[in-house]
Amino acid sequence: GGVEQERRVIIPAGQEIPEDFYNIEKFPEYVALQERLRVLEASGLGNPFFTVHEGITNDRTVIGGREMINFSSYNYLGMSGDPVVIRAVQEAVERYGTSVSASRLVSGEKVIHRELEEELARFLGTEAAVVFVGGHATNETVIGHLFKPGDLILHDELSHNSILQGAILSGARRRPFPHNDWRTADRLLSLFRREYRRVLIVIEGVYSMDGDIPDLPHFIEVKKRHKALLMVDEAHSMGTIGETGRGIGEYFGVPRDGVDIWMGTLSKSFGSCGGYIAGKKALVEYLKYTAPGFVFSVGLSPPNAAAALASLRLLQKEPERVRRLRERAALFLGLARERGFDTGASRDSPVVPIILGHSLHSMQLSQALFRRGINVQPIVYPAVPESAARLRFFLTSRHTEEQIRYTIDVMTEEIDRIDPRYRLSRPASA
Ligand code: PMP
Repeated sequence: GGVEQERRVIIPAGQEIPEDFYNIEKFPEYVALQERLRVLEASGLGNPFFTVHEGITNDRTVIGGREMINFSSYNYLGMSGDPVVIRAVQEAVERYGTSVSASRLVSGEKVIHRELEEELARFLGTEAAVVFVGGHATNETVIGHLFKPGDLILHDELSHNSILQGAILSGARRRPFPHNDWRTADRLLSLFRREYRRVLIVIEGVYSMDGDIPDLPHFIEVKKRHKALLMVDEAHSMGTIGETGRGIGEYFGVPRDGVDIWMGTLSKSFGSCGGYIAGKKALVEYLKYTAPGFVFSVGLSPPNAAAALASLRLLQKEPERVRRLRERAALFLGLARERGFDTGASRDSPVVPIILGHSLHSMQLSQALFRRGINVQPIVYPAVPESAARLRFFLTSRHTEEQIRYTIDVMTEEIDRIDPRYRLSRPASA
């Protein structure tokens, strides 16, 4: 499902063509958006979107001239803004300019693309890797290109929009399975595998709303038994989990070839912009010659390639960044649980939700924290169901213990002011 059937619209002769067919201001979707924004303004809480940050976003950020503790950016390892990364970018710009000014297939190829892809493949332990100009574009074009009508795409119900868009673009049959539920994926394949040609199972290494990690070994077992393909989106697990930051494969200690398509972004732990696919040489070569979002798009810009490459090298040279991230995330999660906050299924990852199940209160809490110097994004209906409305904290390797303890203390005070019942199970000592 998902693809809306195109319907013939017949406007009788002599009847005006309705204005909402050609005037964007009158598009019902736009009118509905205006209404949503108006309600937001009327709530007195203001618009939480497009907050302007005045410098580098890290453990701290400057908003409206005020320095804040920041939990709203996935600069997990502090690579964006790191002096070593900045220097590498400056050198790359001097050498290669700011754009490669062509598709890599035809004249846009630079040494730095090769260096980055070889380093990525070496780091991940795959035969090859290829980088794309956007993380979203990577999923969309790769899934959209590798699968076709007659194929089946099974994906987690909480899959990122880019995975859904890719699946829709492919024209394959698309079926979500309940979150992390490899048993249902297995059952669906037992029933339907033989009705399809290629079957893709898509999961994520760390889910970006909940901070939970799927049972990769079981997904690998299921995909092997049913002769399906497995794709893992490591946007939020790369550089953040696994002993040395090599993601969910390292976290579970599974062989690299247990997953057919390793996908990740350059925009989080790698302090840049773009996405990658890593896996067998055949996969990478095929995509490099044929994936529309690669072939018909400009090559990754030199500054973006340089930022990702420098970050990847720095991550290996300074593995303590990964360890510190793990420690700080565990501290935040442990303290939040101790105080009785609902942190959902978050574990072992730098994403920690504080779930209120109440959009208005989530926005109020976010605002109260903001007044006290803490920036964290509320995630409210309709982005999530009302019962899942929350604040979502991204921890980074640069957050200090002091920042974390202060934040938990302030959040406890502010939430008790809204409604102490949000703290489910206060420990006896509190
Ligand atoms: N996959 C997942 C799971 C994501 O969370 C995101 C966005 N943060 C993307 C893909 C798209 O990546 P990018 O923002 O780098 O385009």
